[in-house]
Amino acid sequence: MTDAPNYGFDTLQIHAGAHPDPATGARQTPIYQTTAYVFRDADHAAKLFNLQEVGYIYSRLTNPTVAVLQERIATLEGGVGAVCCSSGHAAQIMALFPLMQPGNNVVVSTRLYGGSITQFSQTIKRFGWSAKFVDFEDQAAVEAAVDEDTRAIFCESVANPGGYVTDLPGIAAIADKVGLPLIVDNTSATPYLCNPIAHGATLVVHSMTKYLTGNGSVTGGVVVDSGKFDWGASGKFPSLSEPEPAYHGLKFQETFGPLAFTFHGIAIGLRDLGMTLNPQAAHYTLMGIETLSLRMERHCENALKIAGWLESNEHVERVTYAGLDSSPYKARAEQICPKGTGGLFTVALKGGYDACVKFVDSLALFSHVANLGDARSLVIHPASTTHRQLTEEQQIAAGAGPNIVRISIGIETADDLIADLEQALNASA
Ligand SMILES: *Cc1c(COP(=O)(O)O)cnc(C)c1O
Repeated sequence: MTDAPNYGFDTLQIHAGAHPDPATGARQTPIYQTTAYVFRDADHAAKLFNLQEVGYIYSRLTNPTVAVLQERIATLEGGVGAVCCSSGHAAQIMALFPLMQPGNNVVVSTRLYGGSITQFSQTIKRFGWSAKFVDFEDQAAVEAAVDEDTRAIFCESVANPGGYVTDLPGIAAIADKVGLPLIVDNTSATPYLCNPIAHGATLVVHSMTKYLTGNGSVTGGVVVDSGKFDWGASGKFPSLSEPEPAYHGLKFQETFGPLAFTFHGIAIGLRDLGMTLNPQAAHYTLMGIETLSLRMERHCENALKIAGWLESNEHVERVTYAGLDSSPYKARAEQICPKGTGGLFTVALKGGYDACVKFVDSLALFSHVANLGDARSLVIHPASTTHRQLTEEQQIAAGAGPNIVRISIGIETADDLIADLEQALNASA
């Protein structure tokens, strides 16, 4: 695609980053299933290795199929660059890696995907990093949690799965005030429904495993950079502002300007951590993104209809969907993601744990799986699966109490989904 700053989202989701293949004219982006790329000569090779010229060396770092996907997502999110990686969790490590040294911490929202809570509360400690969990509804507490060793603030736009919408402009204002980057996980909303960069985010991360691919076929992640953060201003981010010994003292910010974070992600992050996305996975995700807006519209329409239906069902205690009038976050959702709040919510059943298990086992069209953001409707009972290691108190704090079922509404016919839910609710009571 040539310069076209005014194309709409539906055009960009198909064309951004892609060109007919120069060798064959292939209109669809080829899957460049290759590990290495032939150098023109020894001088060309030397320049590539010194980062004096941009080009392909080895597919742990860069690959033409993956590069198209990176440019497409950066464009849709309004960023300057993006680095794809092997999963959403890899993307979170790749986002923090250039920012954090041993002893540093990140201030994170308590309302996060369960796997992110484990990654931040347990695993990152092995790197000498730590996370401070704060309720992001209490913005004074977010600011108070920031100390000299804090290097980032992390939250989800629409939090998975409890129907919580973060006040992104409010949190971004705190990040600005304390001079730290704001990292937003935009997995549940997607760039079609929400653009965190427009609300002040520095970096955006995704699990591409979910809505971006949209059919439950791959695992992938991405980090998008807004290009707006001044990494040298505070002296807190030496990896990006100070000389890098592994590249003859090159300074990423001085050399690459707004692309410093993206180049660091490839030249240091992928080179040494190796959490690379493979070109087959990039291909499936590119196919998925071509229909992102159409799918998200249907996910939102179905979810709103079904959440409303569930709310009035006699076996249901409450439904947490931010699109419902009953949601305390409805007004905020209209500000942050005006086109809709996605396909995810939780439902609390009056019958408690036993009713939830019977309900999940009785569904026929919904699949009982540990995934979300698929074209097909999915369901899980966190207390008996993903959150079963936690105490009941911890489960309730995580929005995954014994009576809670998480639902990911697909793009099937809404009435068929309602009929399935109705028979399973009756069977559960
Ligand atoms: C699934 C998910 C992740 C983790 O992504 P993987 O691709 O499974 O590693 C992170 N954040 C959110 C909001 C998710 O839904």
